[in-house]
Amino acid sequence: MIEKETIRETLSEYDKENITLGILCSHSALQLIHGAKLEGFNTIGICPEEREKAYKAFPKARADEYMIVDQFDEILEDDRQEELLEKNTIIIPHGSFVEYVGAEKLLEQFRVPIFGNRNSLRWEGKRIKQREWLKKSGVNVPKRYNDPSKIDGKVFVKFSGAKGGRGFFIASSEEDFEEKVKKKIEKGYITEEEAENATIQEFVPGIRYYPHYFHSTFDRRGAETEGGAIEILGMDRRVEPIDESYRGLPNVPEEFFDYTVTGNEPLTIREKLLVNLIDMGIDVVETSKELFSGGINGPFCLETVFHPDEGFTVFEISGRIVAGTNLYPLGSPYSAYLFEEPMSTGRRMAREIKDGAEAGELEKVVY
Ligand code: AMP
Repeated sequence: MIEKETIRETLSEYDKENITLGILCSHSALQLIHGAKLEGFNTIGICPEEREKAYKAFPKARADEYMIVDQFDEILEDDRQEELLEKNTIIIPHGSFVEYVGAEKLLEQFRVPIFGNRNSLRWEGKRIKQREWLKKSGVNVPKRYNDPSKIDGKVFVKFSGAKGGRGFFIASSEEDFEEKVKKKIEKGYITEEEAENATIQEFVPGIRYYPHYFHSTFDRRGAETEGGAIEILGMDRRVEPIDESYRGLPNVPEEFFDYTVTGNEPLTIREKLLVNLIDMGIDVVETSKELFSGGINGPFCLETVFHPDEGFTVFEISGRIVAGTNLYPLGSPYSAYLFEEPMSTGRRMAREIKDGAEAGELEKVVY
């Protein structure tokens, strides 16, 4: 485990006038590089060779330099880490960063400072821990079935190894579950091991909302928390083939019964429901401080379903920037009420780093 003290020492040696923000070229990198540039930072894109052309094709989101790698996890190698440290680099993490490099390896081996709190990686990466966090926060979570034999209604089945909703399905009985699992394994969507560790949740009907939160330590313009403030910077809904299943009516082809996330669309929420979203955001932040040292700071997202009879149910939490924020490089219908200037989540992170450096307290938002 790389201790906080080690990162604190590294930061104390950094030239604060000359910080570089390091971004892996995937997920939300264009937004992050764009935002970092707007806040005046040097930027380094960590990029597999085959992606270089694409990532250089957007001049306003082009990094000042690129570190070309074969695989993203090369950044764990000593000489790569040294190079990043010499450039006073702070890594801006995103979904692919953790996915490709691995939470445990990052915690054990990565000496380069990361924006946010690495303690949160252990909590957001595992469904069981996420659930504990959400339940302790007091938000509604879907009922969970520990065994397929307990299925007593419509359930939603998920796999941790299956990425972005791929292979997820609905079942209504144990037999239905077993049959569908068998088919998924045959098709190669999931492995036997993943099937054994499947998460079986109550199917939650309603409309999905994915609010993009930012918990700030240095800026108190949002809703007050203990030691900070919560901002809602935007909102999206994921697009999945199932959303368009009506196109196959009346006999919907099986291919539409697929929950793989393929994109995101913008949406706003009925205004009075913002009250609930703000309350839930605060609860999740306050609880995080009880669960791990420092609590969550920076961006996070609650993946929710709202039903007029049931209110909000939260089926997942992402403790980092989500790709749905890519909709708003120049701000959203919510960020407009927080900032005079166009504020993406990527830019917001760069701004927090700037505020931290100016206050001489970078270690509060970097670990
Ligand atoms: P996840 O990977 O947990 O974000 O889930 C991917 C997609 O599966 C979501 O965007 C939803 O469309 C759907 N989903 C996840 N959990 C549930 C649930 N408990 N009930 C209904 N749909 C769900």
